[in-house]
Amino acid sequence: MRQNNLSVHSENILPIIKKWLYSDKDIFLRELVSNATDALNKLNILREQSQAEAEGKLEISVAIDKSAKTITITDTGIGMTEEEVEKYIAQIAFSGAEEFVAKYQSETEKDPIIGHFGLGFYSAYMVASRVDIATLSYLPDSKPVFWSCDGTSAYSIGAGTHSTRGTQITLHLDDQNLEYLEETKVQELLKRYCTFMPFPITLNEKPLGNKAPLWLKAPNECSEKEYLEFYHQLFPLDPDPLFWVHLNVDYPFHLQGILFFPKIHRRFDSQESAIKLFCNRVFVSDHCKDVLPDYLMILRGAIDSPDIPLNVSRSYLQIDQNVRQLSSHIAKKIADRLANFYKTEKDNYIAAWPEIELFLKLGTLQDEKFYDRIKDLLIWKNSEDLWTTIPEYLERKEDKKIYYTSSDRASPLLQIYKDKKIEILFAPLPIDIAIIQFLEKKLSTTFQRIDGQLDSSLLDPARDKTLLDAEGKSEATRIADFIRASLDQKDLEIEAKSLSSDVLPALLLLDENQRRLRDYIALTQGKHASPFQPKKTFVVNTNSKLIQAILRLQQKHPSAAQQMAQGIYNLSLLGQGEVEPGDLDRAVSGQMQVLEKLADLL
Ligand code: ADP
Repeated sequence: MRQNNLSVHSENILPIIKKWLYSDKDIFLRELVSNATDALNKLNILREQSQAEAEGKLEISVAIDKSAKTITITDTGIGMTEEEVEKYIAQIAFSGAEEFVAKYQSETEKDPIIGHFGLGFYSAYMVASRVDIATLSYLPDSKPVFWSCDGTSAYSIGAGTHSTRGTQITLHLDDQNLEYLEETKVQELLKRYCTFMPFPITLNEKPLGNKAPLWLKAPNECSEKEYLEFYHQLFPLDPDPLFWVHLNVDYPFHLQGILFFPKIHRRFDSQESAIKLFCNRVFVSDHCKDVLPDYLMILRGAIDSPDIPLNVSRSYLQIDQNVRQLSSHIAKKIADRLANFYKTEKDNYIAAWPEIELFLKLGTLQDEKFYDRIKDLLIWKNSEDLWTTIPEYLERKEDKKIYYTSSDRASPLLQIYKDKKIEILFAPLPIDIAIIQFLEKKLSTTFQRIDGQLDSSLLDPARDKTLLDAEGKSEATRIADFIRASLDQKDLEIEAKSLSSDVLPALLLLDENQRRLRDYIALTQGKHASPFQPKKTFVVNTNSKLIQAILRLQQKHPSAAQQMAQGIYNLSLLGQGEVEPGDLDRAVSGQMQVLEKLADLL
């Protein structure tokens, strides 16, 4: 047995590896099983080229020995000669670890991407105080080799006893990491990282049951049942997904995978990604926050690509050409799938709309290219209870103005528009305001909220109350004065107008620009972050029977009339959801008093 030293710079490296990767030390098993897989793959290739006369099974076994405090990973791959151990383990693998340390040592903040760094063989030292390699190369007349290193720079190498082809790595666990002697723990890790690996894996002689992932199969050979089974294998607690896309790209990068659109209408949370990233069937991570734009993060599934450079820093990922092409390819495939869904199963598409609309809308806002692909798939419910797209709506509308309401309910105001045969779109989601702004710019059109301004189509000029009384005031002015005095709200604009409908006593208009700004702030910074309220205009209908009756009541019972005017205002606020939570009680008790007075009068 010879003694040797790893390298001149090495003294500090192993302690640093231990410290740095402490939180993600589980990955040592992934790294060692991946190395074993590579060794088996290499043997397979040599076999196919008839360069290796390798017999016997190609497999990986993991064994735990509690009394010896070891965990051993054995493969029947190509093995290593003494020169190879020197070269690949002591020099090359070591320089990889050294590079890693040089890169990350100076950074103070722990980057989650750190765990993705392919540290390889040396990650074993995160959990072990000593690692032994016993190996026999596939090459004819090879001799077994034994290498051992206790985590310092010194190692020993010499003749070994491993008599079967392949490599056996034994980790002598240190006292802080004895949890890896628990079979359940190791099994959980193998299931997490190695479920889709290509060679049979056993743990303490029990098969892991790993198998080829569905994404490797040609899409036209996969059945619906297989897709659903695969989905439930990845996400056992989820209901069936809505639809899926099978990705298979060879150029300009390699990518395979299956992405599912989940059925649950989950709160959108960009932190919670459920796309599992694999690299050559080895599970790498379920954080692909940096690889895909936020809106694609709603999807669930798996992508496998050797071309995603996971071992580099986050800022690099964002500018990496492959990564950008990858997201745009995924986005395109999803858009194509949605277009097909809309075209071939419109009713199902509409039924699924509440679950997918947020995705399409976020995609619209975050990725213009995506919007271009799905613009005809953005649908809106209208006041006739039908679904329409904006281009279809505009085709029906001469003035090219789009009327909408941000309420999701029918209202007397909506009814007036309906009576006038004006089509109104429902846009009740908080994100709709951002979509509307986007579409206005994109389509050079205007979205007019029904309670944003008094549309001329609601007025009836023929019944304008313009006749002047003795004081030179029109009836409209008198009504406005009376309401103004009754409400006593200094920031409130009050107008009395002749509306075409007699049913609606009054309506409250909110300044559209200010309201959009307020809603936008609420959308981005939370509901209570808005610093102001939009300017309000209270339009009283001079043709309303109720208003006329209150006006008459004013002569005999001025205070009752005043309270009724306040009641109408409060009800308008309530109807539009504009009552501040703190004012709600006051509005309700005010209403009760009005009813009490009314009951008294009758
Ligand atoms: P990487 O796998 O990224 O090349 P590693 O540090 O994991 O880096 O391993 C270094 C090298 O050691 C490998 O490239 C391979 O040549 C050799 N090696 C490691 N494990 C095995 C194994 N189980 N069988 C054969 N060779 C191995």
